[in-house]
Amino acid sequence: MPINTLASRPGWGCDHQQRFVESKLVKTLRLVTLLAIAFLVAYAIYRHVHPSTLHPILLHVGDRPQPAQSDLTQLFPERAPSQVAILLTKPEQAAESPVRCLQAMGIPFFVTRDLRSALHHKLLLLYPDVDGTTFDAAQAQAITDFVTRGGVIFAQDISWGGFKPLFGFEDVIPLRTRHKIVFDTPALDTTNLIAGDPVLRYLNRAEEKEVPLGSLAIKEVIWTNGYKPAAGTQALARFEDDSAAVLRHDVGRGHTYLIGVALNDVVLRNQQNRDYEAQRIYVNGFEPGSDVWLLLLRAWYETYSDTGIRLGTIPQGKRSVLMLSHDVDWEYSFKPMLAFADFEKSAGTSSTFFVQTKYLDDVNSHAFFFEESLDILRKVMTGNSDIGSHTVIHSRLFNKVPLGSGKERYPSYQARATRDNSAQDATALGEVCVSKSLLDGELRGHDTIIFRAGHLRVPPFLPEALVRCGYEFDSSFTAGDVLSNFPYELDFDLGMTEPTTIFEFPVTFEDEQLPPLVERIPSMLDVIEANAENGAPSVILIHSNNAKEKLEAERELLARLPKDVLVENMTEYARFWKARDQLRWVARSLPGGEQIEMNVEPPIAGLTLVSPHRIQNATGIPGIRWTDHEVILPVLAGKSRVLVQINYDRSRASITPSPR
Ligand SMILES: [Zn+2]
Repeated sequence: MPINTLASRPGWGCDHQQRFVESKLVKTLRLVTLLAIAFLVAYAIYRHVHPSTLHPILLHVGDRPQPAQSDLTQLFPERAPSQVAILLTKPEQAAESPVRCLQAMGIPFFVTRDLRSALHHKLLLLYPDVDGTTFDAAQAQAITDFVTRGGVIFAQDISWGGFKPLFGFEDVIPLRTRHKIVFDTPALDTTNLIAGDPVLRYLNRAEEKEVPLGSLAIKEVIWTNGYKPAAGTQALARFEDDSAAVLRHDVGRGHTYLIGVALNDVVLRNQQNRDYEAQRIYVNGFEPGSDVWLLLLRAWYETYSDTGIRLGTIPQGKRSVLMLSHDVDWEYSFKPMLAFADFEKSAGTSSTFFVQTKYLDDVNSHAFFFEESLDILRKVMTGNSDIGSHTVIHSRLFNKVPLGSGKERYPSYQARATRDNSAQDATALGEVCVSKSLLDGELRGHDTIIFRAGHLRVPPFLPEALVRCGYEFDSSFTAGDVLSNFPYELDFDLGMTEPTTIFEFPVTFEDEQLPPLVERIPSMLDVIEANAENGAPSVILIHSNNAKEKLEAERELLARLPKDVLVENMTEYARFWKARDQLRWVARSLPGGEQIEMNVEPPIAGLTLVSPHRIQNATGIPGIRWTDHEVILPVLAGKSRVLVQINYDRSRASITPSPR
């Protein structure tokens, strides 16, 4: 029905016009949509290939330095009788282990191959061993005479029958199947601290009285010497097979101490994480398995040295330091940094923020090292906060990455986390150097010198990468894993032979294990106290992804911290430790006291001299302070020579300072 049909279309012309307008609108919308999609695709490709431009500094990546030919006998020469003599018994052996132990404890020493000059000192450390070829009869007699006259020896690995009478053993059985040492310390009784050998006096906690040498799951661990003590010799520690692990023998006016382990194995091996899984905990607890040997040496020196003075491990005469640190490894972790930084400033302290410099999207997350995050970083930097690197891609497989070429640069370094391969194109040098080049480029005037690996996964190449990119400090291990709470030097390839210039500050506490941080305050305070008793520091890692509960936990921890525990950012304490390590000093006895001569390399503030004698006064530089057993020094200028005179109060009985 045409009419109807027509009638059914009244106003066709009008309708047509409307449809025409509509179709134009649709086309325009379609065009706009298409354009928008094209733009977004183009932008995504642009972001993917060439993210908004960052401004790295041109970082010089050096070659791996040649092994230092440094002769420790030249580096640590004989200067005064108060020094401990480290006598090298094997011409080819280096003395890294005892040098690092004594250096960390602030004990004065020198290294020699000359028996005659070693015997002019009261304290003698024989290293690394004595067998039938080490000494001739006349030398052995000279050493025995030395002890009879009052000399004191600390030794390891004595297997020579000729020294059985001097060290007091009948037999020795070397084995690799011993897994722990139990020290013969008095029962935990705070009212009776007198019993026990003085060299064990720092070993007051259960974790210090019994130390692991390797995991029970591994049959053969480090070599140990199980000694059979002769009559009249004390066993100060035993292995689980009841053989003696530490012997003390009194000979005439002197003493010998003999340990059944190698310092290389129980200190350096643990510190470079080459141990046989000796640790009892990974993190969030007290694991002093390496520290006990440093503390034993400290107590040995304090007990028998005529001076007993040493460099304190903590500045300003404090008992310990808690280093605050935050990992910033998520796009939403930047804003809360401000709340942490503000709180820390109000508490008169600051922290180290380890920042991930992620500039490519990957399966883990979007890139976030751009404008908004950078603005926050710059704001944080204007306060006292310290900034370190936390890699570029934060890979869970960082421990498996290759070293790299040293040519890794932003933006051509295109490492990504992927589903099938967790660290595609990542290298140790890329993660370490590119992150530093970006932080230092975007934060004007910043020099990134401290690093922390993502997920605390450490490749053996890390120390080399850190050296070659110009870092000074690292905090990628946990204190539990390396059984160490004191800082120490990392070795190239974590190899126990070739030291780098990088100091490690292992992480004591982290915030991701359960229960939540805020419920762990009492247990953290207990570990901090355990470290303070040894003068060891603690490090806390709190992710800045939450400015509520986690900040609340930090606030409460600081509020309940003993007043004699310093709170600092990591670089502050790390600089102190490094300057203390490089300082060379000597104590010379004077009537009524002693003179301390110090040659300062980097400037150092708050250096503390600790003496077992009661101090009457100290003089020599303006601003010097003292307590009963400590002399606290003001800022000492770099490359300076400082003389300090300490007078002791001989009228009152000397009181041994509480262990620290
Ligand atoms: Zn992280």
